[in-house]
Amino acid sequence: MSQAEVEATTKDEFVIKEKAPLRPVQSPTDLCLGCGTCSAGCPMTGVEGFDPRRIVRMVLTGLDRELIDSKLPWLCTMCAKCEYACPMGINIVNLVRTARSMVERSRVPGQIHKGVEMALKTGNNLGLPTEDFVFIVEDVAEEMAEEEGFSDFRIQLDKKGAGLLHTLHNKLVNTQNEDLVHWWKIFHLAGEDFTIPRENWEGVNWGLFSGDNEAMKTLVGRIVEHMDRLEIKNLMYPE
Ligand code: SF4
Ligand code: SF4
Repeated sequence: MSQAEVEATTKDEFVIKEKAPLRPVQSPTDLCLGCGTCSAGCPMTGVEGFDPRRIVRMVLTGLDRELIDSKLPWLCTMCAKCEYACPMGINIVNLVRTARSMVERSRVPGQIHKGVEMALKTGNNLGLPTEDFVFIVEDVAEEMAEEEGFSDFRIQLDKKGAGLLHTLHNKLVNTQNEDLVHWWKIFHLAGEDFTIPRENWEGVNWGLFSGDNEAMKTLVGRIVEHMDRLEIKNLMYPE
């Protein structure tokens, strides 16, 4: 049999499978075996009744409202261990995130939605004014420059043509300034030419976690805009 004939036969086999599906699958959740492999690997199984298999079964049986109104979607860490383990490749994280997106924003627990609103309004989840942000990063940089071997270190904000755009996790600016120094020492010793945006510097996109697609797109768009404006090809994204 020629190569062309082999390829034609293979193609035909796929055509038959497409025309006559082995199962009348309606959605990926229909493929759940109920095997519990996801639950066995999930770090949250057993916490306040959480179990990823339960979430999949609720979606499968149409208990959308019960799932949306429950705590279950918010107990998930979105680590994706369940998906990695699932023999049927079910998109469990996407189920969880979709359920979260259907929760009224005023009912999103904790600081997540408030952080999203703050980031949209001010450019960071803390609502830190630009002058305070600049003061903090320059102050940390000056302290670092006092250490042996780093006297020529300077922080560069909005540097056009830098090798790397460095967005920041808000906690590094708020309570864990010392962790900035670890990054900067590595960059400095590696000769990395990095820059930090003066505004819209937040690297944590809580829209991802809250299921807010529009906010997520806006926040990602700001980073893309920085990279275009400053002509930078590489990104350091702290999440
Ligand atoms: S591992 Fe996959 S197939 Fe098994 S119960 Fe979980 S979601 Fe269903
Ligand atoms: S993504 Fe959620 S459900 Fe899956 S293993 Fe992690 S915590 Fe468990």
